[in-house]
Order: sequence, then C-alpha cells, then structure tokens
Amino acid sequence: MAAQTRSVLGTSRKVVVSVELEKELLALIEQGEFAAATTKLKQSTSLSLGKCKQWVLDHTPPPPPRPQVPCPYCGKLLRSEKAQQCFECGMDWHNATNVVKHGPSVVKRGPSIRPYNLPLEWLSKRASDPEVLQQRYPHDDALAELIAGMQPGDEIRKFESPSEFWQRKSGRFGYALVREGKPVSMVVLWLN
Ligand SMILES: [Zn+2]
Repeated sequence: MAAQTRSVLGTSRKVVVSVELEKELLALIEQGEFAAATTKLKQSTSLSLGKCKQWVLDHTPPPPPRPQVPCPYCGKLLRSEKAQQCFECGMDWHNATNVVKHGPSVVKRGPSIRPYNLPLEWLSKRASDPEVLQQRYPHDDALAELIAGMQPGDEIRKFESPSEFWQRKSGRFGYALVREGKPVSMVVLWLN
C-alpha cells in the first residue's frame, strides 16, 4: 500500500515524510519538544541531523506577536510591553513611588553638540519621515526648525538613551538632524 507522503527539503535529495510521521512530529513541536521531534525525524528518515533541525524549524509556528500595552495615563499604545514611560503624554513611572511627567520639549541645536552628548548608538538606524513627524508634533516649533534646516541628503533620525539613563534621571528622547552619518543638531522632546 502506497503511503500518503509529502516531499520535503527541495529536490536535491528526495526525502519523504509520511503523513503519519508528520502528524507525530507536529504534535511534538506543539508541545515544545523540539529535540525529541528532531531525534524522531532523524531515526525515521535518512535526513542529516542538520536537515532534521531545519525541518523542525520550518514547521515551528512563529511566536505570537508581542502584546500591545496602552499607557495607563493617556491610553495610547506604549512602545514596548516593558515601557515605563509614555512618549505621548510624558508620564514616567520608572519609580513607582514618584511618577513624573516630562516635557515640554527642550531644544539643543547647533555646533555645541558633541559626539558624547549624543552617542551614535542612540540613533535609530532608520530615518524618520519629516512630514509624519510634523503631523505628530504640530506645535513643536523646535522640531519644525530642525526639519527646516535639512539639506539634500540629510536625514532626521530618532534617538533615545538606554533605559539605565532614564533610571538615573538622565534619559533623553528626541530627533536629530543627521548629515553624512553624524548628528549636527537635535531636539530633545523628553528628558528626565
Ligand atoms: Zn501616555
């Protein structure tokens, strides 16, 4: 009797996993028994260990998307599940017994900015769309000025200090005008 089969792993070496075996393997994967599934596949087929691992990986469903958590003060979505401050309303609850509100924006611009004031690793890898930013912060004159100062090839990039800076009350979040990979001016939207 010809078993129902499904070919896997391309054509270089035709290998088939019976539907029955696949069912068994998928059940193991569902239980998080990845090693057991790999071993079972290895024992049941002529696949190499590497290909068995790959098969298990290919049949492991992606993790569920991270839950989106609203700000307890304004209800807008926080930037991460573990966020302890909200960049929409400025509330900061890093210290549960001393919740503070940051803002309004503080401006720092011009040649006074030195590399140690804005470490390059704080800069987002991706450029922000100036139009979207202006819609988001319509009343921020400093940000408007920063954007107005853009020259061809310049980028506006978000920056944020790592969480330990916020805990030490020296956190910074804002946007920088980046020219040839270097921040030449910036607007600090939030700081503590
Ligand atoms: Zn908020």
